[in-house]
Amino acid sequence: MAFVLRAFSNGMDGVFIGGCRLNECNYVTHGNYHALNMVLLLRRIMEHIGLNPERLRIEFMSGAEANLFVEDVNSFVKKVKSLGPLGEAEGIDRQELKVRLAEMSKLVPYFKLMNQEKLGSRLKTDEEREGLFTQEEIDKLFSEMVSYYIDPEKCQACMTCLRRCPAEAIVGGKNKIHVIDQDKCIKCGTCFEVCPPRFASVKKLSGEPVPPPLPEEKRTLVRKAKEK
Ligand code: SF4
Ligand code: SF4
Repeated sequence: MAFVLRAFSNGMDGVFIGGCRLNECNYVTHGNYHALNMVLLLRRIMEHIGLNPERLRIEFMSGAEANLFVEDVNSFVKKVKSLGPLGEAEGIDRQELKVRLAEMSKLVPYFKLMNQEKLGSRLKTDEEREGLFTQEEIDKLFSEMVSYYIDPEKCQACMTCLRRCPAEAIVGGKNKIHVIDQDKCIKCGTCFEVCPPRFASVKKLSGEPVPPPLPEEKRTLVRKAKEK
């Protein structure tokens, strides 16, 4: 997903993915099914942000089917040309498009995490595939977007979350109440999982605003024993 979004961010008007025939993958992981499901999800996300989903296509062929590859690519190029330049054809301002694509790229881990099961499915018919992700589901994914927040009243500055965060989105240190930089957070949920249950300081919020972070000057942790 990240590669596709990067291609659009770099000004490509369309992205074509070619994969081995379904059920003929050399690996037990059947990565071509995963790629197909990823495309189905991303096409819905493109619709959500106002882009024509036909700008993204996946086709399957064997290494011996050069003619099929040529046919598919030519038909895709024809389609993309008929759609016109990315964003411009959809009436989205260039700067706005950049912002929307950057936001979606940042959310890729979240999209994957929330759709893990469906991304691993192996559906047989086009009809089933078409219904794998509905637009309503995707709209809900955005309206009920999850955020993580560290409760300053509970954080004990153990630094576990800071060490495990894959996006360096947690600001803290020894004896410092930790805070999450929401601009950097990729919503992976690791901090929520690893915060020791006896502290349970990380809150998972769904579709609600995140409280503002504790000001820098108030982040020094005053331990109860020391207070006495
Ligand atoms: S959810 Fe937590 S661990 Fe994951 S990126 Fe955000 S702050 Fe870091
Ligand atoms: S793991 Fe929990 S208690 Fe430890 S620093 Fe992070 S939020 Fe605070």
